[in-house]
Amino acid sequence: QPTEETLLEMRSISKAFGSFRALDNVDFHLRTGEIHALLGENGAGKSTLIKVMTGVLPPDSGEIRLSGQAIRPRSPLDAQALGIASVYQEVNLLPNLSVAENVMFGRMPQSWRGIDWKKLNRQAEEALAVLNLEIDVRMPLGSYSIAIQQLVAIARAISTNVRVLVLDEPTSSLDEAEVEGLFVVLRRLQGRGIGIVFITHFLDQVDAVADRITVLRNGKLVGEYPSSSLSRVELVSKMIGKELGAF
Ligand code: ADP
Ligand code: MG
Repeated sequence: QPTEETLLEMRSISKAFGSFRALDNVDFHLRTGEIHALLGENGAGKSTLIKVMTGVLPPDSGEIRLSGQAIRPRSPLDAQALGIASVYQEVNLLPNLSVAENVMFGRMPQSWRGIDWKKLNRQAEEALAVLNLEIDVRMPLGSYSIAIQQLVAIARAISTNVRVLVLDEPTSSLDEAEVEGLFVVLRRLQGRGIGIVFITHFLDQVDAVADRITVLRNGKLVGEYPSSSLSRVELVSKMIGKELGAF
């Protein structure tokens, strides 16, 4: 389903922490309706790249374009308003609030007085229905499993006008069936033309869901590949920067 059309382009992005170059002139291209895996060993710069993409960190240099338009997201909310939504490893939700409040958070009236709870709950239910998730949205979020909380975080991300969805290790605390359920959701979002950036350490998940792969190593771009074009051994070789024999 992915198209050839570039949705998000990052050009020559650099980011240093003190004298340490976490990103060194990195390019990244995401197409409309594609699932794009971002791979690399620990410390390769994956999270830093998506933090730049989602307005958490400003780049030292480089540029970002969304549908050809130069953008400069200054915060996650700013990025979200531009159409770039993120779900982080550390799920940033509020377990004591209801599911509906979590889905709608940031888009509710400033005062609790005057909230139309029925409407709020209905909007949250509609957002969750996109993910085939039917749960009682009035219950505290913390009463549900991590997998469901993860889906709620995605529902919140996509209930705005999202064009790019960024997931940093979304599967790290999910079991096999939950991962499969998440992939069904990602494919459905892909079918709606959303571009998905997906960080994982599990290469079998890359085979299962990714259309293309970008590999980073020591803050540098190694390359960008169609996911079917590389064997597992070739991929690991690129990640670690060494030729591997048969093993
Ligand atoms: P990855 O997600 O690929 O594991 P990161 O992007 O999180 O890698 O980190 C890349 C490198 O930058 C690591 O060596 C990490 O220690 C360093 N780094 C990341 N964030 C900071 C920070 N806020 N301050 C200092 N160093 C950082
Ligand atoms: Mg990381």
